[in-house]
Amino acid sequence: MADYQAPLRDMRFVLNEVFEAPALWSSMPKLAENVDADTADAILEEAGKIAGGVLAPLNREADEQGSKWNDGEVTAPEGFKEAYQTIVEGGWNGLGGNPEFGGMGMPKMLVAQFEEMMQGANMSFGLAPMLTAGACLSLNAHGSQELKEKYLPNMYSGVWAGAMDLTEPHAGTDLGIIRTKAEPNGDDSYSVTGTKIFITWGEHDMAENIIHLVLAKLPDAPAGPKGISLFLVPKFLVNDDGSLGERNSFSCGSIEKKMGIKASATCVMNFDGAKGWLVGEANKGLAAMFTMMNYERLGVGIQGIGAAEASLQNARVYALDRIQSRAPTGAQQKDKAADPIIVHPDVRRMLLTMKSYVEGGRAFSTYVAQWLDISKFSDNDEQRQHAEGMVALLTPVAKAFLTDRGLDACILGQQVFGGHGFIREWGQEQLVRDCRITQIYEGTNGIQALDLMGRKVVASKGKLFELFAADVATFIQDNSNDDVLRPYLESLSAALERLDDVTDAVIKQAEVTPNAIGAASVDYLDMFGLTALAYMWAKMVKVAAQKAEGDTSGFYTGKLKTARFYFERLLPKTVSLAEGIRSGSDAMMDLSDDEF
Ligand SMILES: Cc1cc2nc3c(=O)[nH]c(=O)nc-3n(C[C@H](O)[C@H](O)[C@H](O)COP(=O)(O)OP(=O)(O)OC[C@H]3O[C@@H](n4cnc5c(N)ncnc54)[C@H](O)[C@@H]3O)c2cc1C
Repeated sequence: MADYQAPLRDMRFVLNEVFEAPALWSSMPKLAENVDADTADAILEEAGKIAGGVLAPLNREADEQGSKWNDGEVTAPEGFKEAYQTIVEGGWNGLGGNPEFGGMGMPKMLVAQFEEMMQGANMSFGLAPMLTAGACLSLNAHGSQELKEKYLPNMYSGVWAGAMDLTEPHAGTDLGIIRTKAEPNGDDSYSVTGTKIFITWGEHDMAENIIHLVLAKLPDAPAGPKGISLFLVPKFLVNDDGSLGERNSFSCGSIEKKMGIKASATCVMNFDGAKGWLVGEANKGLAAMFTMMNYERLGVGIQGIGAAEASLQNARVYALDRIQSRAPTGAQQKDKAADPIIVHPDVRRMLLTMKSYVEGGRAFSTYVAQWLDISKFSDNDEQRQHAEGMVALLTPVAKAFLTDRGLDACILGQQVFGGHGFIREWGQEQLVRDCRITQIYEGTNGIQALDLMGRKVVASKGKLFELFAADVATFIQDNSNDDVLRPYLESLSAALERLDDVTDAVIKQAEVTPNAIGAASVDYLDMFGLTALAYMWAKMVKVAAQKAEGDTSGFYTGKLKTARFYFERLLPKTVSLAEGIRSGSDAMMDLSDDEF
């Protein structure tokens, strides 16, 4: 297996050349004081060392060992505790956190690159800092000043870890039917009782304390999603002076045996009158969770890119080394018994598909992160509102499209290895197993598609879609005189028009039947993602075309050639997707239950 190397060159290209992030940061005073180009570069460099030098070497062995449960205690695989300490010492947990409580206040555009490296190097481990950062985000946005002061500094530093406890045995997608209860204690605390399942890193030995954010229902709560509240429930109670007190009354009942991310503990958590504190308003817990989810969902999309990048790195090395058969055009390496498999068009198709999705996906996640940063740091109300609309629209696309393509890339990488991809030795089968969960947790990809089509596109009568369409149209208009870009802009323009037509068609279908939304949603999200990546590739062509002449590294010329592959071979998938979507929901709803 190739050693994972953080793709720093490409990250710098995306950040500095495509999105000109340092200029954007310096235009927003709240960010300008925290970050500039040099700081960002130093952070990337250091993060790359940790990902490649500390996290990646643990990945394989930790997968074999798994986390271990013993009488309620969970031990992480060998080396994880020390690696976690490295994260703590560098303050990496608080990279994007609020400086008022010890965070570093870095932009998401930069944090996203760090997350990708960590997830690409070791996804099981990466989940621990990711969930802690998510818990911090909810607490920072919705917690009282007292809760923030008491918990955030130790969570940003990573001395205390975080966990998110939503799912119950009977309630996953539909959190409105959870049964966990929270009874007021008569002071400012509550007693939380219930069982949560599938809680990632709900228990472990890497941090001194674990702060759980738990969804539960108050005694008089309305039924359904409007009756859910969010509680902070620490593993060890925290004394007024900040020292750790007695163990809270909940424990880890067991951990799951599972397909992938085996090194991470997936815990059953039993709360038995555990002491907790309300975060935000009563019955508004789901909204508080959603604050975190826009970040977390992008984070899961980034896990898809991280795994895909690792797969591409492995497959590229293997395809250059493995010799089988001769090139269709005649022997290329006559001194060898056969040519390297990279000469075969089908192997190139696989590698180029991976490269297109990885590099296009990295640009897209940075684009979404850019809107998150504007929505958080801009001083201009109108700009912030516009950015919030973009984030709402694009987040489900980032989560689902990037993880779907992430798994595709892991499977394609496995295919490049032939039978060697199926056995343990080369690491490809682990990537496939690890990446699969990204399509399921944090809201299944089917639910993301419903969110995009139903809550975002149809509910806004197409207004949110128009924000994105206008952004793409402006780019096309502004660059219409660029000769190199012109053919790409023509294809992009056609794809945008196709997506626009289909958007209108589904909005009209939905007026006639509510099933139209669910019938169209997954294909629509795919079409949206493919069009968004075409936009990203056009942006990259614009920069690369200016720098390709005299480029001896192959970086910029490689970009131009990959863009061509994307536009000629992948973007046309939108034509067949549009055809299917337009056919409506009848074919899906026609069968009776007996006929399945
Ligand atoms: C390894 C792992 C780690 C996890 N980590 C965490 C964690 O840290 N914290 C946490 O709280 N949870 C966690 N989860 C839980 C995860 O988020 C849920 O499994 C996921 O949200 C799906 O819920 P479910 O499994 O109950 O499936 P269900 O909700 O039962 O869904 C089953 C199927 O029905 C579909 N479906 C359901 N409702 C609809 C609908 N309205 N319309 C269309 N289709 C629908 C779904 O898309 C899915 O395909 C984790 C799960 C795993 C396996």
